Amino acid sequence: MGKMQVEAALFFETIEEIYARVFREVRPRTSPPEITVRYKRYANANSRVSLRNGCLLVEISDLLESAPSPIQEALATVLLCKLFGKPPDKNYLAQYRRYLNRAEMRRSLHSVKRERGRKRYRQPQGLVYNLEQVFASLNEQYFHGLMAAPALGWSLRVSRSILGHYDPCHHVIVLSGALDSADAPEIAVRFVMFHEMLHLRYPTENRGLRRCVHTPEFKRAERQFDDYLKAKQELNRFIERKHAAANRHGA
Ligand SMILES: [Zn+2]
Repeated sequence: MGKMQVEAALFFETIEEIYARVFREVRPRTSPPEITVRYKRYANANSRVSLRNGCLLVEISDLLESAPSPIQEALATVLLCKLFGKPPDKNYLAQYRRYLNRAEMRRSLHSVKRERGRKRYRQPQGLVYNLEQVFASLNEQYFHGLMAAPALGWSLRVSRSILGHYDPCHHVIVLSGALDSADAPEIAVRFVMFHEMLHLRYPTENRGLRRCVHTPEFKRAERQFDDYLKAKQELNRFIERKHAAANRHGA
C-alpha cells in the first residue's frame, strides 16, 4: 500500500464503520449487527434506520452523501438513539441541524424538493370560492395590483389546523379545502389568502436554527387588513364550528 492509502485506511472510516462505532456507544453490551447503509433519492433530508433479522438497515438521503464524517456521526447517533428509545445528545442534534441549515444545503434541499416532490392540489375554481378572483381582488386593494400571481389551489386534504400555506419551492399558495364551503365566511377566506400573500411579500428569513416566519413587520402589515379584528373573529368562529362538528362525528 502507498502512503496515501495507509493514511486513508487509518483516518477514514467507511460509513458502515461509523454506524458500527456509534452502535457500540449506544448499545455497549450488544455486538453490532450486520450494517447496510443506502443512500436514497428522497425528496427531503429524511433518514431512517430499522433493525430486522439481526441486520441494521440505514437509509439516508443522497443529499447527505458528501456530508463530512462528524455530521454522519451526529446523524448516526440521532438515528440509533431514536431506534433504541434513548434521548439523543442535544449537541449531536444541534450539529446535524446546523448542517442542514447551512445556506448551500438549504438550496439543494429546496431544488430537490421541487424536482422530486409532487405537489397536488385542486384547481383554484372551487365549489364556492374562486381563488384567482380572491387573489386578484386583494392584489388590487392592498398591493396596487403589482403582485405577480403564484400558482393557487385548494388542498386535497381538508385540514382543519392548517388553513393556508405558501410553498416557496413550488411557488404556490394553497388554501385548505375546508374553506371552500358556504359555511366559511368570505372575509375569513380573504384574510387567509391575504396572510399567505404577505408571505410572498415578506419572504421567510432564516436565522440560525429558527425559521422566523412572522416578523414584526409581517404582523404590522397583516393588521392593515380591512376589518382586521372582524376577520380574525370570523376565522376563529369558523375554526370552532369545524372542531365542534368534527367532535360530534367522533373524529
Ligand atoms: Zn403564516
